[in-house]
Amino acid sequence: MLTTRRTFVSVIFFILFLSLPRPSFSQSPPSNSVYNSFLKCFSERTKTPQTQIAKNVFSQSNPGYSSVLRAYIRNARFNTSSTPKPTIIVTPRSYSHVSAAVICSKPLNFVLKIRSGGHDYDGLSYISDKPFFILDMSNLRNVSVDIADQSAWISAGATLGEVYYRIWEKSKIHGFPAGVCPTVGVGGHISGGGYGNMLRKFGLSVDNLIDAKIVDVNGRILDRKSMGEDLFWAISGGGGGSFGVVLGYKIKLVPVPSVVTVFRVEQYMNSGAVDMVHKWQSVGPKTDPNLFMRMLIQPVTRKKVKTVRASVVALFLGRANDVVSLLSKEFPELALKKENCTEMSWLQSALWWDNHVNATQTDPKVFLDRNLDTSSFGKRKSDYVATEIPRAGIESLFKKMIELGKIGLVFNPYGGKMAEIPVNATPFPHRKKLFKIQYSVNWKESSPELEKGFLNQAKVLHSFMTGFVSKKPRSAYLNYRDVDIGVNDHGENSYKEGKVYGKKYFGKNFDRLVKIKTVVDPGNFFRNEQSIPTLPIAKRTVVPEPGIARRLLGAKGATAVATASLRRWSYTSSRLVDCFLVCFVLNH
Ligand SMILES: Cc1cc2nc3c(=O)[nH]c(=O)nc-3n(C[C@H](O)[C@H](O)[C@H](O)COP(=O)(O)OP(=O)(O)OC[C@H]3O[C@@H](n4cnc5c(N)ncnc54)[C@H](O)[C@@H]3O)c2cc1C
Repeated sequence: MLTTRRTFVSVIFFILFLSLPRPSFSQSPPSNSVYNSFLKCFSERTKTPQTQIAKNVFSQSNPGYSSVLRAYIRNARFNTSSTPKPTIIVTPRSYSHVSAAVICSKPLNFVLKIRSGGHDYDGLSYISDKPFFILDMSNLRNVSVDIADQSAWISAGATLGEVYYRIWEKSKIHGFPAGVCPTVGVGGHISGGGYGNMLRKFGLSVDNLIDAKIVDVNGRILDRKSMGEDLFWAISGGGGGSFGVVLGYKIKLVPVPSVVTVFRVEQYMNSGAVDMVHKWQSVGPKTDPNLFMRMLIQPVTRKKVKTVRASVVALFLGRANDVVSLLSKEFPELALKKENCTEMSWLQSALWWDNHVNATQTDPKVFLDRNLDTSSFGKRKSDYVATEIPRAGIESLFKKMIELGKIGLVFNPYGGKMAEIPVNATPFPHRKKLFKIQYSVNWKESSPELEKGFLNQAKVLHSFMTGFVSKKPRSAYLNYRDVDIGVNDHGENSYKEGKVYGKKYFGKNFDRLVKIKTVVDPGNFFRNEQSIPTLPIAKRTVVPEPGIARRLLGAKGATAVATASLRRWSYTSSRLVDCFLVCFVLNH
């Protein structure tokens, strides 16, 4: 009885609170007072004097602000004087700093952009058209490898190169299946799926996770057990920046041979490239899972003639003789010879894939280098292919690429382990595809005209490929971020807008991601232009899976039903009401 009365009084107070004037998402206090409020809150939460905290919380007037901001901008398109800048950058040095950053940002109504390695192709980790902060995780970069347990804890701010190097320090016969670019950050890469040149043997990075740590919307530090299986599933490929701040992952190391083989074979349009690319489609995704053959297709000028070059770049988890013999039977069009192959250690192969031509002579410590060239401009798009492109289609594609002049394609073969993993095992749904296409254009010159032209080439080629790629929905890879396929303003149509890009990235897994999002972050604090939206108010009968229910309800583990469709409020109010109702129903 007493509880009921107390609840009733809380509801009345809450409704009164909602009727008070309050800032909307688009209004924010002046930056000085924001900085001071944030600093005060941050200092109190972390029990650290403000003078010390100022080393990790940068306002725009702080002399270190620009270098901290630029240190992890990896696309020069978003490093101009007109690029929107964050009001505050926080560079946490501990989990309690991350927790405080979340708690102290919330009342200020700023978007919190989370950045680890800064490789987001469309810059979503460090730009926004709304007032925003950046939570830069680059100081949290510890990598702790346990060979006896065949596992490692890798922090969000570590780079893949650091992960590979630290594994190699402890063992020459262990590795991890993740991206081929060593400067990519763990935080964004793994939360978005993460693939590399061992995916046909071991699957994606997210297929090799054991545990994770995050800071949730209430500032709590959770591991797999305390966050529950649903949230763990969501951050294993459902994208960073939607569910919480990833602190790190515990990964399962995989066995690699002490000697592996790499090779590169090139052919041109008028001397075998069309046949090679055509045949590759039936070999690349079906051959021995130890073999990963990437296909690069690029328009080039050769002997003053415009043509297309197709290059097969490969990693074989085995010896040169074996791969030469395998491909002489399966892929004679490649004409692979022993002299095309180089044997080396797995770590050296990672260096070779990172364009260190003399990989066997290169000091692996280069993987620890963080002072990188950020002067290149670029754009990426993606597609998936489920049925082979006919030979005539490849020919017409080459002609189109010559006509456009710059944009290139990268075909990454699937099959092997990828095809064995159920589509709903992780949020990444593109398991049964033959291969993924990356549309890729880079340039060095800072020119708005050139940029417009190159972005247009990407769009035109993407459109040209419509008849050859997967449809309903046309798919895309989240880690190849592409804002052309839809963005979210997080207004009244947030769910509808989210569905446009969400179905492309996640297929049928999108709905489960939305359901989890609605339970763990009903107020949509963690958001970006392509984050997972919450369910619209009218549809909010949220039945959390047992894992989430257990966490929210305690040990009883009952299935909770949160119905939050009582009334439609204005957008800002509805967010607060949702938050309240979901928590209220779950807690009573
Ligand atoms: C040169 C280059 C090579 C690449 N090669 C590959 C490849 O081989 N394989 C592949 O799969 N992908 C590859 N990618 C894509 C890359 O995996 C994604 O861009 C990835 O998201 C980058 O992670 P990041 O931490 O560096 O990026 P960021 O820009 O820091 O983050 C990317 C996204 O993740 C979110 N995020 C970052 N950190 C966290 C965190 N700690 N908690 C929650 N959310 C977070 C951000 O908010 C943003 O939405 C490559 C990208 C580049 C630029």
